[in-house]
This record gives sequence, structure tokens and C-alpha cells, in this order.
Amino acid sequence: MVYSCINNILSLLYPDHCRLCDAPARAGLCAGCRDELPYNSQGCRRCGLPLTLTLGGELVCGHCLQHPPAVDRSLIPFLYAAPIDRLIGQFKFSGRLAQGRLLSRLLGDHLERQATLPELLIPVPLHPSRLRQRGYNQALELARPLGRRFAIPLDHQSCHRIRHTRPQHALNKRQRRQNIRGAFQVSQPIAARHVALVDDVVTTGDTVNELARQLKRAGVVRVDVWAVARTP
Ligand SMILES: [Zn+2]
Ligand SMILES: [Zn+2]
Repeated sequence: MVYSCINNILSLLYPDHCRLCDAPARAGLCAGCRDELPYNSQGCRRCGLPLTLTLGGELVCGHCLQHPPAVDRSLIPFLYAAPIDRLIGQFKFSGRLAQGRLLSRLLGDHLERQATLPELLIPVPLHPSRLRQRGYNQALELARPLGRRFAIPLDHQSCHRIRHTRPQHALNKRQRRQNIRGAFQVSQPIAARHVALVDDVVTTGDTVNELARQLKRAGVVRVDVWAVARTP
């Protein structure tokens, strides 16, 4: 913790270097490193899954065509690959909140180019015991600067994670559905028709879909997902 505090203070004092290669840089990344990031340039419009086709335009993957998810639109600029995975790991597990601010800024740069902004941002909630353990919710840390940047209010009070879930990636499709069912509760009416869920990584899409399903039951019409990275 002391180490991460010192790191956070250092990055505030000396912000003009690239977090990846130490070259002089504005806003935390040099142009070279920014160019080499693993962009998710061909992701499914609904779930963000990287597609191998390079047809251009906006595509929907086969799975989303057959089983339309509760999420209407996923905006996920990066693949969960080096060095984005490392930055996310440092942010999430080593308390390096400065890496979170950089990731939030990169996500925001991608969102700048999108036309329809939501009326409300909802960070994907952590289970209270996980929150106690970590000390902060990484999704909320990502969402706060985005809310300020796009002037969108934040709601981190209405959605709760009421059940502990096992990591989704270790399970098969049926187990994943069972694992995540009923994991969230929406405790009060949502004052928006169009919301965006904010999270760090989308792995299978089941988590954000379950929360989107609950939000739609609570009257929300459109649910987008804003996340930093998508696993293939
Ligand atoms: Zn660099
Ligand atoms: Zn899809």
C-alpha cells in the first residue's frame, strides 16, 4: 500500500512521461506506445467480441444474432492483451489508481467518436466483501472521470451485487448462466431510459448482460457497455 501510495504521488508530481516506456509524453502515453496498443478494431456491436472478418462497417457476431443479449451496444476499445492487461492488473490488484486514470482517459478518447451518449453511467458493482478487500471499486474509479468528461451523472447507489460469484472464465456456458443469475439487484427506480454500464474488462459478457437484464426489468430501454478491454 505504501509502495502504491508513493507511486501515485510520483505520477502526480511527474506526469510527463510515458507509463510504458518512460519517454517524454503528455497525458501518460507517448505517441509510439499509443499506436501499438492492442485495439479491438473489429468488435461485435452488441457484445464487443473481437471478430476476425475485416469487412468494415458494424458487425454483429453469430451468437448475438441467434440469442440477442440484453446489452444493446458495447464500446470496448482494446483487447485484453499486453500492455493493457498489465495496466489493468496494476490498477486492480496493486492499488495503482494512476493507471486507472490513464485507462479511463483512453476509453474516453474512444467514446469521443461515438454519437449517442447515455443519460446515466452505472459502474458494475462489486460484492461488498470484495469491495472491503480491495478498498475501491475499479469500475467506479473508471466511471468518475468519464462522468466529468462527458457531463453525465453517475449512479452507484441503485445496483447491488448481492451474491458472490465464481470467476466466469473457469466455467462452461451453462454453469456461467447459473453462476451469474440473480447476482444483482436494482433497489430503486432508474431515472434514465438510456444508461451505460462501466467496467474494466468484459470476459464472457454474462456479467454485464445479467445486470442489463435487471435494469431493463426496472424500466431502462437501452443499455450500453463501456469497458476498457475485451477478452477474445
Ligand atoms: Zn511510450
Ligand atoms: Zn456479439
